[in-house]
Amino acid sequence: MKYFSLNKQSSPVDFREATLKGQAPDKGLYFPEEIPLHEKTFIEQLRSFSKEEIAFRVMEPFVGDTIPKNVLQRIVTETVDFPFPLHPIHESISSLELYHGPTFAFKDVGARFMSRCLSYFSSNAVTTTTILVATSGDTGGAVANGFLDVEGIEVIILYPSGKVSPVQELQLTTCGSNITALEIDGSFDDCQALVKEAFMDTAITARKNLSSANSINVARWLSQQIYYFLAHQQWAYDMPPVIAVPSGNFGNICAGILAHKTGLPVKHFVAACNVNDTVPAYLRTGSYQVKPSVSTLSNAMDVGNPSNFIRIMKLMNQDYTVLQSLVSGYTITDETTLATIQKVYQQYGYMLDPHGAVAYAALTQYQQENKSARGYILETAHPVKFPDAVKEATGHEAPIPPAAMELFGKQKRSIPMQKDYASFKEYLLNK
Ligand SMILES: *Cc1c(COP(=O)(O)O)cnc(C)c1O
Repeated sequence: MKYFSLNKQSSPVDFREATLKGQAPDKGLYFPEEIPLHEKTFIEQLRSFSKEEIAFRVMEPFVGDTIPKNVLQRIVTETVDFPFPLHPIHESISSLELYHGPTFAFKDVGARFMSRCLSYFSSNAVTTTTILVATSGDTGGAVANGFLDVEGIEVIILYPSGKVSPVQELQLTTCGSNITALEIDGSFDDCQALVKEAFMDTAITARKNLSSANSINVARWLSQQIYYFLAHQQWAYDMPPVIAVPSGNFGNICAGILAHKTGLPVKHFVAACNVNDTVPAYLRTGSYQVKPSVSTLSNAMDVGNPSNFIRIMKLMNQDYTVLQSLVSGYTITDETTLATIQKVYQQYGYMLDPHGAVAYAALTQYQQENKSARGYILETAHPVKFPDAVKEATGHEAPIPPAAMELFGKQKRSIPMQKDYASFKEYLLNK
């Protein structure tokens, strides 16, 4: 399998190159040259396969011969090393709980798969690879955990001081070993600007082998297909599901659409956004308007210019009507998000986090127009990561999973830093 750049100015590469590079030299996103099709019997007999076997079958065509089978088998086994329950909330909405991994968010899957691939691909390298990540909360924790103690790799995380939740901050700052957290006196956008500038700075790239771990990396993007198959294994109805995905950069939903293209039965996708709704607005009006991001309760989705949408349009052959027939978009305000957390808790005793609540509210709206449609939401984070919103909506504390309990006993270690580029550059060059 080869990957070409969607900007079409760089040559195609294999999975190894695409994973190591992240972005193509022409700044385009990599995209597979062909979409593999699963055998019908595989889909029909999904229940008879273990989750490791499913993960292997899903990833193998995309990885090609760049990783030996026995190594890929080990990588996918470690990737899906926790439960992925499809929990029924009521008759017509279930919740695919993607938060049972080490950092309680769905990004664990992509981060674990990518880190293990990178580690395999760089196992003979003489120089250390430095991974720079700017995070608004969830990405940093998942990446840090995925790369912890992975040989030949150091991770530097930049996060906005005071703007991540307590659990998120502990996940970023307590790893130690090859993980360093820089606490930036600024916003997430400032963190991202620092990282972008470092990648363009030849004084740094001449001395350091920099890499990124964001959601445009094919290893992260493609491995997110796995849990759509694991959900289907547990889907109890004949009619295929409507799947509601809380979306920010649109990598997660794009992986679901790709899984559908490879043969996974899906009735419809619901792109659930907070007020950062570039894509739902496009679906409503036909006009694609990138906007500056606005802060919301579902802050992992505060994205005004979703980087993976270009891949979705490619999957739709650039056809707006095809997109509209498969995907509906909804805009959910913070007010509705809180009301949804409250309602679902009171009526069904089920606690949603703000991201899952956005998806739930969107799916409910879709079902008002499509009465017989059953579906599930992707619950992308554990409510404990957003304790204030959950407490405000339900009057109750989110239950703390034992692994989060352990975090509270750990000592935060971060390096405080101003948001000017000179400080960051000096730090990188002296490290
Ligand atoms: C990252 C994230 C999202 C958004 O996922 P995308 O792939 O960027 O659309 C949704 N929910 C949570 C909890 C996240 O961390």
